Amino acid sequence: MNALDRLIALLSKLPGIGKKSAGRIAYHILDSDPSFAGTLAKELANLHQAIRRCGICGGFTETDPCSVCSDPGRDHSIICVVERAQDMRIIEESREFLGVFHVLGGLIAPLEGIGPGDLSIGKLIERLHSKDQTVKEVILALNPTVEGDTTALYLQKLLKDFPVEITRLASGMPVGGDLEYIDRLTLSRSFRGRVKV
Ligand SMILES: [Zn+2]
Repeated sequence: MNALDRLIALLSKLPGIGKKSAGRIAYHILDSDPSFAGTLAKELANLHQAIRRCGICGGFTETDPCSVCSDPGRDHSIICVVERAQDMRIIEESREFLGVFHVLGGLIAPLEGIGPGDLSIGKLIERLHSKDQTVKEVILALNPTVEGDTTALYLQKLLKDFPVEITRLASGMPVGGDLEYIDRLTLSRSFRGRVKV
């Protein structure tokens, strides 16, 4: 295997990148100015050092707490619960939501051996107990899949004794779909029309 084959093999391990796309990307890099490959390599090498998890919400950030959690202009009484850190980015890009986030780091999936203890649920409860900040609403912005629904139900039961309103995003989200593939307008509508559960 030469360097080009090794790069293609590595790239094809990325999600959504098959062997063909991996080849296209690798040849594109090789055809481009060498400085591009240099910058790409530098950013990749630096990524894990530069980016960490926010100690409050669990999102990826360079500063802890992250820019959302440390923004006094945000509504800290509304917490939007998402599965993954990238869901937070998708919702941020829609500019529809001005509260704060909580990243679970996964969904309950008994068949895969993922239980509530594997998710960042204890931290969410801590935030609800916090004396510095009263939380009025928890929005469950989880994908409408079996795992998403199971997790939402679990959280609904767990949070029902807290003096907090629990809501879910309105329908319009594709069933079995993914926040990632939802268009901005649908996401905005889902937020505005969120329903109490
Ligand atoms: Zn944060």
